[in-house]
Amino acid sequence: MKKLIKNGTIVTAADTFQADLLIEDGKISQIGTNISAIGAEIVDAKGCLVLPGGIDPHTHLDMPFGGTVTKDDFETGTIAAAFGGTTTVIDFCLTNKGEPLKNAIQTWHNKSKDKAVIDYGFHLMIAEINDDVLNELPYVINEEGITSFKVFMAYKNVFQADDETLFRTLVSAKEHGALVMVHAENGDVIDYLTKKAVAEGKTEPIYHALTRPPELEGEATGRAAKLTGLADSQLYVVHVSCADAVEKIAEARSKGFEVWGETCPQYLVLDQSYLEKPNFEGAKYVWSPPLREKWNQDVLWNALKSGQLQTIGSDQCSFDFKGQKDLGKDDFTKIPNGGPIIEDRVSILFSEGVKKGRINLNQFVDITSTRIAKLFGLFPQKGTIAVGSDADIVIFDPNIERVISAETHHMAVDYNAFEGMKVTGEPVSVLLRGEFVIRDKQFVGKPGSGQYLKRAKYSMYTPLNQNETLSI
Ligand SMILES: [Zn+2]
Repeated sequence: MKKLIKNGTIVTAADTFQADLLIEDGKISQIGTNISAIGAEIVDAKGCLVLPGGIDPHTHLDMPFGGTVTKDDFETGTIAAAFGGTTTVIDFCLTNKGEPLKNAIQTWHNKSKDKAVIDYGFHLMIAEINDDVLNELPYVINEEGITSFKVFMAYKNVFQADDETLFRTLVSAKEHGALVMVHAENGDVIDYLTKKAVAEGKTEPIYHALTRPPELEGEATGRAAKLTGLADSQLYVVHVSCADAVEKIAEARSKGFEVWGETCPQYLVLDQSYLEKPNFEGAKYVWSPPLREKWNQDVLWNALKSGQLQTIGSDQCSFDFKGQKDLGKDDFTKIPNGGPIIEDRVSILFSEGVKKGRINLNQFVDITSTRIAKLFGLFPQKGTIAVGSDADIVIFDPNIERVISAETHHMAVDYNAFEGMKVTGEPVSVLLRGEFVIRDKQFVGKPGSGQYLKRAKYSMYTPLNQNETLSI
């Protein structure tokens, strides 16, 4: 059935304009005024912004970590994402050394297939490089459409890969057309500082932050950027938290290296002092990298504004406070890392960014959707409002005020890291490929209706390929 979205203000990464939008067969078929659409369902977007669906490039749904598993899976996680105006997620598929990549990918398909309510793709973790892995990469890229690889420079003896693995991954990514993502912290030094703190009886949550100082994020970011330059490859630094790392990314970019940076809402609005909350509450704020001293927030906002950082991911990785976070009650090293953010990523960026004048409306769309689609081979199918693109649309009321709370959120987890925070702006209705997932703030989607996305190969700003020609 056709739908005609009327009376809204369309916002893309480039433009803001009043127009109506016709949806046919799940795609945007016309943009303009006075569109005649006999038989179309009329959707009134008066007073609202009409945005391309948000794309969250960084989620961990149904992920095992530290002897437990994230609370939100592909069903609850993507429902919460949809409420927040996100219509695509790219989740991290974990791999184990010695295990065929194909098996790991199948595990992630099994986790997501009948559960996701929005579209999704996978990044693939590279734990080691050997002939088996190298031989499988063409399959991963060409058959599975997984065109981004994640290398961990931290989490020693768990996920951490050595520099040889990182460098060879960068070289292969260049050869095959993939983007390498890094968790950039110096895992060896963190491991030493962590053991030393525990031996000295420093076991409270704040020591999680104090044993992972910003210098170690800056150092690893700089090292990864240098290796990228040497390999003439491309790099995406996930969850940039501090000035030390922003400087290294800016330096690499000034040399012409293809280095991109993502930050997350938590680093933009929360700070290290949260880890000192009494009664073990600090555990709710344990992320890696950790929350930083507050002054770093201005540096991150400025980097988003100036384009030194390009995207915002949620790093959704939710664990209950009771029963999961408290595994680390007597030892901060046992607190599962991460938090529930998938739902409020877009709203926080709008409220704290656009409403407070830190970024403009078009930058907001670019940072939460368009640039992510371009970097991860989804553009122009996703990430914009254009004729021929998927009708992934968010009807967003820019004036609604609400308070973020675990009482009202849709994630499966028992707390919200942004509890009590006032935000302005909220998605009212969300469409995925032309069908409502959220309608007038009610979930009307169906688990399993999200489709797996095979993504195009990396190239700086993906060119149109034959199948996805825009007909403007
Ligand atoms: Zn992550």
